[in-house]
Amino acid sequence: MTFGTRRCTIHRLHLKELSLACSGLYERNVAALDSSTHPTERVSPCPVCNAEEARPRFAVDGIAAPVVVCIECGLGRFHPSPEVEEVRALYPDEYYGEPGRKFQPLVEWLVRLVGTRHIGFLSRNLQPGAKVLDVGCGRGVLLGELADRGFEVHGQEISAEAARGADPRAEIRIASSIAAAGYEDCSLDEVIIWHVLEHLPDPRGSLEAVHRALKPSGRLVVAVPNFESAQARWTGAAWFHLDLPRHLFQFPASALQRLLSEVGFEVLSEHHFSLRQNPFGWMQSVLNRFPGLPRNGLYTLLHHRSAGGSLPFDARTRFWLRFWLVAGAPFGLLATVIETIARSGATVHMVARKRED
Ligand SMILES: [Zn+2]
Repeated sequence: MTFGTRRCTIHRLHLKELSLACSGLYERNVAALDSSTHPTERVSPCPVCNAEEARPRFAVDGIAAPVVVCIECGLGRFHPSPEVEEVRALYPDEYYGEPGRKFQPLVEWLVRLVGTRHIGFLSRNLQPGAKVLDVGCGRGVLLGELADRGFEVHGQEISAEAARGADPRAEIRIASSIAAAGYEDCSLDEVIIWHVLEHLPDPRGSLEAVHRALKPSGRLVVAVPNFESAQARWTGAAWFHLDLPRHLFQFPASALQRLLSEVGFEVLSEHHFSLRQNPFGWMQSVLNRFPGLPRNGLYTLLHHRSAGGSLPFDARTRFWLRFWLVAGAPFGLLATVIETIARSGATVHMVARKRED
């Protein structure tokens, strides 16, 4: 992940409180703010559309700054935005898991299986030996599989811990931002920003750096949660993909399209189906509205590392979470098919080409 250097002086996130929250990475409560008590206010210019009015929408436990939504383009963001070091505190080492492993073995195997199909999508039409950069490459799972297919693989990470155990064929640069990583202008065939852009303090600056580093007509593949999706709108503060406070920005698909175009990309295609992200998002978001169940409890249960100690939650809570995982799966799949047809995917990914203006 990359982090820029925007600064603010008031309403800062609290480091001490954040470090205390590491044991419950995904359980932080999010509350919806009523427009009658939180009217539209003046804010710093929106990084997508430059509008200076936004409405406070969510309050996150322990975070002074609310998430506000731009009245023009619908972009959600913390305002004021947090300091760089405060953002880094949101990613304790445990966020990344053990080297080469993030989930329980069975879930990890399923993630890798779906990932194989995903690699086919990412590498479509690339020539052998093409230079591919994965931004926020983490454990380098994507990079290893792209290397298997004969591509020259590069990764950029802010965290050396996150990249530990990555495939040795990948050239990984640890740097605070894409620009700081120093990729040569016009040197890359493809850049992948897969569910990373929303974590970055400066998404516009990051996309500009990617644009410079791509070869003429080079390709960008970018995926984000879709803040204007039916899943986001219907589940509100309970939406799983809010992932607050780590998601510094909440992109409506239309706002991402606009940002890509302004930075110098031509969007070639927009995809609303994701088997890996969207059915689970429906299940967990609906469960987050059930009284008595921990927020994002299903994800926490699947995410726990057996080597790291005892299971999370009491036995009764685990039973109900597993029950709803099985009972809710058909609902999640059906809702995903419907939202795909309606072009309202809970997450979207876009393929864009570097425009030569
Ligand atoms: Zn805006």
